[in-house]
Amino acid sequence: MMTSISCIGEITATVLSETNSDRQDQAHYPQANNIEDFRHNLACVNERITRACRRVDRNPSNVRLLPVSKTFDEASLRLAYTADCRLFGENKVQEASRKWESMTDLTDLNWALIGHLQTNKVKQVARFASEFHALDSLHIAEELDRRLQVEGRYLDVYVQVNTSGEASKYGLPPNEVISFLNSLPSYNSLRVRGLMTLAIFSSDEVRVRSCFAQLRELRDQARQDVHTCIELEELSMGMSSDAEIAIEEGATIVRIGQAIFGARSLPNAYYWPRS
Ligand SMILES: *Cc1c(COP(=O)(O)O)cnc(C)c1O
Repeated sequence: MMTSISCIGEITATVLSETNSDRQDQAHYPQANNIEDFRHNLACVNERITRACRRVDRNPSNVRLLPVSKTFDEASLRLAYTADCRLFGENKVQEASRKWESMTDLTDLNWALIGHLQTNKVKQVARFASEFHALDSLHIAEELDRRLQVEGRYLDVYVQVNTSGEASKYGLPPNEVISFLNSLPSYNSLRVRGLMTLAIFSSDEVRVRSCFAQLRELRDQARQDVHTCIELEELSMGMSSDAEIAIEEGATIVRIGQAIFGARSLPNAYYWPRS
């Protein structure tokens, strides 16, 4: 049965075949202010995921939604929780840690850190995060492992790859990924789940798609060349503006903020500058 929900920001097959010059700017997501807004937005996002899966014959249950709550306040997060979100992705450690501390009453709530991590923040992350999507340094891996052992905790990690070649993006160059992965098994508290990327910020769908395709090819290659027990199932890729393209290229996790919570005032590029 075809549904008729129309979803802001959705990339449809038709749009893809047109010249969609300001695609990223077209979508203006209204702020979610109450539980109904969150239910509606989550239904839309799930519908977008389902439709994209259908186009490429994938099962929607193989794509996990990671709601990204950065910049939104605790009240918003609690509304999203009531609308059934049990995991939040945050970009900055300080902010994530503050929210975690004030929401420990929600005992089944989990936290994913999706932004670059500095050594002096490792200790905090080891205390509360259950997922880390931006691993790109052995030094950080080692420090995380050490702190996790102290805490008696484990962390699911995703190795970030710079597929766009932009100097402004974190992540390993693709040709360093295999040897990096081969070094990770010595860190017992890190459970390596897969790879993560941010596509180029561009309205050119072909360039966006090639970033995602690259990550998938790298994962497939790594599965053959990494001689260890690393699982490497997952591809964490796609956000509000490009989730459909990511899913068509094999994403198993989409990290989506604005389509759930509403537009942020600052552009995305602000949240991951190389300082
Ligand atoms: C903010 C962020 C997202 C989500 O972006 P939206 O435009 O809010 O969907 C995804 N991944 C990372 C690493 C982010 O920092």
